Amino acid sequence: MQYDHIVIRYGELSLKGRNRKLFTSQLMKNVRVALRAFPNIHIQTKRDRMYIVLNGEDQEAIIERCSKIFGIQNMSLAIKVASEEKAIKEEALALLKNSNAKTFKISTKRSNKDFPIGSQDFNQLLGAHLLINTENISVDVHHPDLEITVDIRDEATYLTSEKVVGAGGLPVGTAGKSLLLLSGGIDSPVAGYQAMKRGVELEAIHFHSPPYTSERAKEKVLDLAEKLAFYGRNIKVHVIPFTALQQKIHREIPHGYSMTIMRRMMMRISEAVAKKEEILSLITGESLGQVASQTMESMHAINAVTSYPVIRPLIAMDKDEIIHISEKIEMYPISIRPYEDCCTVFVPKSPKTKPRLEKVEQFESQLDFKQDIEEILENVETITIAANNHHQDSMSDLL
Ligand code: ATP
Ligand code: MG
Repeated sequence: MQYDHIVIRYGELSLKGRNRKLFTSQLMKNVRVALRAFPNIHIQTKRDRMYIVLNGEDQEAIIERCSKIFGIQNMSLAIKVASEEKAIKEEALALLKNSNAKTFKISTKRSNKDFPIGSQDFNQLLGAHLLINTENISVDVHHPDLEITVDIRDEATYLTSEKVVGAGGLPVGTAGKSLLLLSGGIDSPVAGYQAMKRGVELEAIHFHSPPYTSERAKEKVLDLAEKLAFYGRNIKVHVIPFTALQQKIHREIPHGYSMTIMRRMMMRISEAVAKKEEILSLITGESLGQVASQTMESMHAINAVTSYPVIRPLIAMDKDEIIHISEKIEMYPISIRPYEDCCTVFVPKSPKTKPRLEKVEQFESQLDFKQDIEEILENVETITIAANNHHQDSMSDLL
């Protein structure tokens, strides 16, 4: 007997009261996009779970793809049968015989109270039926090779196999949109991923300084955005021509303060792009104390130019924890490609780790930068990365 359904359970999602419908319909949309490569499936949403009718499509591949969709707590393969004793017995027996299991356990859940046999009684009745009709197979309630859950519901009964853990979190698109400051480094893609896990949809902004930073550095960022899009929806990447303003800062600002002021420019430009795109917050990959720009004093001075919430999902994480996630989500090999970032090209030898806001403001007041920012904003290049591309590593195409 082949499984014909996948049951998807929502977990936290189902706690959302009145908003539940919003969450389930967003999850359904996201599942649809993610499973575009399986045209024969059919998706049904119920109050507390979702069913994918397989119609012969590859169950393993679908489970694998679904395990990367936020908002799914866990999933099981399932067989749908009529809520009748005889039908359930037949299918459960076929399921057991088809597996290599030597031991099994039955767990009945009866939410359909019209079904005439209680859960405990049905466990015994079905267990006995399976024992009588097989050889060398026994019951093991503690560590069974196969646990068959018999979920007797109003519309039908589902016989399900073990649970596969899902990605958790909330469906991307249920928590509004945020603008991710995406460098080519390790941290910011992980920050974007963590925000997506809480339902945030992303756009990205990247500061690019040709010829100091190469086309390949930009490619790298687009590849990272493509990886991120895989977990959610299309991502617009706004590429910012930053060279002229960086050179100006480098020329005119004492070097100890140039990094802080450059970061303040990045914040101003990011806020302007966010405003234009009707986005209400920014995300960075900052982690407290990791580098000079990420001390409390630096963050204070940099943050002072924006009233937008700056979400920092990695603020309390250690580098090795961040790397661990980066590896898990397959960003790491892209992040470590050896191309310069605009921040590292112009980084002074000894940036102030404790910049004073009054000094920063004083130096900045001598810099005429309004016109530069306007010009930058007129020359933004926006690239849309489609969700659910079969994300090939574009570098491997080039090699
Ligand atoms: P990352 O690994 O994300 O590059 P990092 O540890 O190298 O972070 P910084 O280079 O100080 O730290 O950058 C801090 C944050 O500023 C980054 O996480 C990112 O959000 C943002 N940022 C840095 N450089 C750029 C850039 N060129 N374009 C867009 N955002 C950037
Ligand atoms: Mg960096």
